[in-house]
Amino acid sequence: MQTLVQMVYPPRCLSCGGLVDSDFGLCGACWRDTPFVAGLACDLCGVPLPGLSDRAEHCDDCLRIGRPWAQGRAALLYRGIGRRLVLALKHGDRHDIARPAARWMARAARDLHRSDLLLLPVPLHSRRHIARRYNQSALLAGAMAEEMGIAFCPDALERRRPTPSLDGRSRDERFAVLDGVIGVRPARRALLADRPVMVIDDVMTSGATLAAATQACHAAGAKEVFTCVLARVAKDP
Ligand SMILES: [Zn+2]
Ligand SMILES: [Zn+2]
Repeated sequence: MQTLVQMVYPPRCLSCGGLVDSDFGLCGACWRDTPFVAGLACDLCGVPLPGLSDRAEHCDDCLRIGRPWAQGRAALLYRGIGRRLVLALKHGDRHDIARPAARWMARAARDLHRSDLLLLPVPLHSRRHIARRYNQSALLAGAMAEEMGIAFCPDALERRRPTPSLDGRSRDERFAVLDGVIGVRPARRALLADRPVMVIDDVMTSGATLAAATQACHAAGAKEVFTCVLARVAKDP
């Protein structure tokens, strides 16, 4: 059956559309050009760090800005093909990107695996959700939960009010706009209580959204909160 599907719909590279002979998602050339996070990375946001270390290290941003979550991972950097894939998933109806992307995220977060870990996507406000028809973070979290063999709850977190576009805003403005904006649905609080959870989003920029989601999880009694994003926005090296 799988062979028949592959004959009719041969796997194609997510980035350039060229034929590929496996389901890694990318052809060899695009794979090499995609900014995967590899090697030493910040234990809170996943940004690559120079050198080697056998203990948890933190980047300058995470040393300066308090991060309420315990540990965080990122699969890619938000540049080049990494940025293009995120935008295609978010605005281009390219749902086919979610599964391979979730596989990369599961790999980045494999050391945070716990059998009772619960994955929670960052929510869109319902008005934006209707306009866009799908929540890309929920697609990622669902595929990642399958990949990791753990639970996922698509609607535990909710936006309590719509937020304006954050593009072009300073870090302080983003934190001010997002403060208290995310909550745990009352009907889902029991699910999170005394349990490790992982907040899933497509992109981390300032970390303000992840911080708001983490605070909501703590308020609902989550035992530990982790984060994992498809792509981390980082300053150019
Ligand atoms: Zn390609
Ligand atoms: Zn960091």
